[in-house]
Amino acid sequence: MCYAIPGRVVGVVEGVAEIDYFGERKRALTDSAQVAVGDFVYAQAGLVVKKISEAEANAVQGYWEKALPELREKDRELSSRSVGVNNWLEGVVNRAFAGAPPSAAEVEGLLRLDSPSDLSSLYSASNELRRLKLNNSCCVHAIIEFSNNCVNDCAYCGIRRSNAGMSRYKMSVSEVVSAADYACNKLGFKSLVLQAGEGAYSVAELVETVENVKKACGTVVFISVGELASEDYAALWEVGARGVLIRFETSDPTLYAELHSGQELGDRLECIRDCRRQGYLIASGGLLGLPGQSLASIARDILLAKELGTEMFSFGPFIPHPGTPLASCAKPSLNSVLKVLAASRLVELESKILVTTALEKIAPDGRRRGFMSGANSFMISATPSDYLSKYDLYPGKSLRDEVVAEVRAVQEFLKGIGRAPTDFGV
Ligand code: SF4
Repeated sequence: MCYAIPGRVVGVVEGVAEIDYFGERKRALTDSAQVAVGDFVYAQAGLVVKKISEAEANAVQGYWEKALPELREKDRELSSRSVGVNNWLEGVVNRAFAGAPPSAAEVEGLLRLDSPSDLSSLYSASNELRRLKLNNSCCVHAIIEFSNNCVNDCAYCGIRRSNAGMSRYKMSVSEVVSAADYACNKLGFKSLVLQAGEGAYSVAELVETVENVKKACGTVVFISVGELASEDYAALWEVGARGVLIRFETSDPTLYAELHSGQELGDRLECIRDCRRQGYLIASGGLLGLPGQSLASIARDILLAKELGTEMFSFGPFIPHPGTPLASCAKPSLNSVLKVLAASRLVELESKILVTTALEKIAPDGRRRGFMSGANSFMISATPSDYLSKYDLYPGKSLRDEVVAEVRAVQEFLKGIGRAPTDFGV
């Protein structure tokens, strides 16, 4: 199974490798890899992941050389823009195509659209823009949810501290390394997200975990463990973490304080900004459909994600969990989420935009609709099945006996819409 296309290094200047993929040139930071002109490498998320032999590269490239043109043609067929009759919308979209992203008021206007023809125009425009800017490449990360313990009590979250009905677990370092080894060395993932509730592990335990996962896998490691002190994130960087998945959830400080007992939005934003200053790739975004959340507020969320230098936009629907104070709230509609994905593409043309697994709980075709609205990223849980059922963030989260079945399903899905589960460099 191939999750990345190997490329040949054609230049290295000041820690940045120029890599050739079938005549297309991309750049990636060499990071800790020692590479030279002529080497064959995998790159993910803008980083060289590892060097491979020419024989291995040729074997994988042979597959992609044939598959890629067919996939791109299919993507082209499926992503042509349908021009509508709404002059205001066409103006916003045309300016975005020309490189002028929508203003806050325009983003809010996009979120207010509701006629089928306007929505169709918006989604198809964002999808075509995605193809024009990034072609059909799509990044697929593995995520290992290594503990559902959490010291926080976020009102919307199934694994919040005060949900006494939750069966808790905490994987050992060796269990995490074993799951990571399976995901990367058996299934072929080139980037990995390690996610746990906040405070589930000491910093020393996190450092030991990341260090051992890096040694075993050599992949790009994102950590998703909430707010840590600057020096703690620095320690994790030292042992090889390069990305942070940390949502701000809402840009509204009052709503944030209501939902996050004892926490402040300013602290979360400073943590994200500090991680960015340290060099981390940032995956961030918010929850959509929270009680008390306005469209103006969501428009500000999208622009905040851009302002934070977010590499991967992660906006997903709020799904009420029975073990939380928000159990009786309604979940948002599929279109309300798709509009955010599409508007995010117009705001940040070259970003990775994630389709969260929660979107599939809103509608059975949520994944496909998300990809057809400008999204280009996905995560597959590689959490061992013994633990997966306990990582109960929201109800209906799928339980998989075999991660590999999901991997195959995602591969087939991406093939069906002409996407290549690859993530070239920057
Ligand atoms: S959202 Fe994150 S920090 Fe909040 S309770 Fe859930 S796991 Fe903990």
